[in-house]
Amino acid sequence: MQTYIYPEYEVVRDRAKCVNCRICERECANGVHRFDEKLKVMVEDSAKCVNCHRCVCMCPVHALKIVKSDDTYKLNANWDNRTINEIFKQADSGGVLLSSMGNPNTYPIFWDNLLINASQVTNPPIDPLREPMETQMWLGSRVVSIRRDAEGKLVDTLKPQLKLSVPIMFSAMSYGSISYNAHESLARAASELGIYYNTGEGGLHKDFYKYGANTIVQVASGRFGVFREYLDTAAAIEIKMGQGAKPGIGGHLPGAKITADVAETRMIPEGADAISPAPHHDIYSIEDLRQLVMSLKEATDYKKPVFVKIAAVHNIAAIASGIARSGADVIAIDGFRGGTGAAPTRIRDNVGIPVEVALAQVDQRLREEGIRDNVSIVAGGSIRSSGDLLKAIALGADACYIGTAALLAMGCHLCRSCHSGKCNWGIATQRPDLVKRLDPDEGARRLVNLVTAWKHELEEMMGGMGINSVEALRGNRLMLRGIGLTDRELNILGVKSAGESM
Ligand code: SF4
Ligand code: SF4
Repeated sequence: MQTYIYPEYEVVRDRAKCVNCRICERECANGVHRFDEKLKVMVEDSAKCVNCHRCVCMCPVHALKIVKSDDTYKLNANWDNRTINEIFKQADSGGVLLSSMGNPNTYPIFWDNLLINASQVTNPPIDPLREPMETQMWLGSRVVSIRRDAEGKLVDTLKPQLKLSVPIMFSAMSYGSISYNAHESLARAASELGIYYNTGEGGLHKDFYKYGANTIVQVASGRFGVFREYLDTAAAIEIKMGQGAKPGIGGHLPGAKITADVAETRMIPEGADAISPAPHHDIYSIEDLRQLVMSLKEATDYKKPVFVKIAAVHNIAAIASGIARSGADVIAIDGFRGGTGAAPTRIRDNVGIPVEVALAQVDQRLREEGIRDNVSIVAGGSIRSSGDLLKAIALGADACYIGTAALLAMGCHLCRSCHSGKCNWGIATQRPDLVKRLDPDEGARRLVNLVTAWKHELEEMMGGMGINSVEALRGNRLMLRGIGLTDRELNILGVKSAGESM
């Protein structure tokens, strides 16, 4: 017996408008639409629809819409439709449920409970159209004291840093989980903007070596595609210890997505599943992590900053303190709403903590221990707007990674079916017919637009606060007020309540 599950979404076709052009049939990789030769009309199978909106966008006469089904099991606040359907699926398959993109559940979003300050009268706002605003940021260990040699000359103790024109970077997305054209879009946009994109754990395609000055390469537990040239080409190296969408587990890219090109880039056999283990098999302590940090620095002549990326988990402040002492230059914190190409649903939806609280705790702990300037902090895991970006910087981040927002800019419609490999927007797929739907010129243009727009908004908000540089905003929690938060939550975030004065 296989349980019939009523489709979650229904494809609604306005037959009065439809001209049977069959564009929707050609555009849908999931086979939702087909032309019925007998009836001479288009018909649809809503059960196959993932709600990616490709057909809706492509229909020349706007004859299509996708609506949430109003079919429901007997109403039950405890056993909702989704839970019942998941039980049915697992009873049919006996398998772990897989999902893509970030945690969609209704946990509190702390960004939405934080309000930004504005200057009035005594501390006048700054007009960003008429006065200079500094959005540059440098990532890496800072110099906290000046040293001179015996002759009184300054001793250069500055470790390698990354210069960002705006405190935004594109977060790690591997070639394999996303397409060649999506990678090219990110690389080109990062290069044009003076920021960085991140290879994820999939290695670096040789075509993209030319973007090396704007590339962060990842060293993950699977060590896919890691070799001398890969490290040398990059501007910085990121050791991936964890990912917000799936803390505590490794990665799995199905063999179907390991095409010849992806296999060559990852240095694994074509068609073989790419499984990265949960731990790095050489890291079981901060001392072990330090060995890898130092090995990577040694291998690159101490010329490249080394990031360590961790998922936001309960004990993150202590973990970050260890990382700051490991010799790493940047700590990247990935919150539990961070996206992924594929993750077990239960892990994605139940493990980890929001980046807002993790970031606040890490910044606070490093300050208390007097080691905040040893490292920069990069926050990621659902930075949805320039408002979130500004709040993250005020909570202590030096910069933010954006992943889902970048995908949306490239055309993603957040259907959360990346793991199927049939992304109709040409992003999370390796199928050549789908990949070519994303034009890298257009992808890069839209990414540049997005970051430029956020930069303008950041400048406007900072100007309103009477702040003219990101550096002055960094960790300036007095510029935030909480609303609708408990005293305990305000305390953890280190912000005052709305209505409390300076
Ligand atoms: S794309 Fe629109 S007009 Fe063309 S067949 Fe599909 S629904 Fe009809
Ligand atoms: S990348 Fe593609 S498959 Fe993944 S959520 Fe976006 S539109 Fe859907």
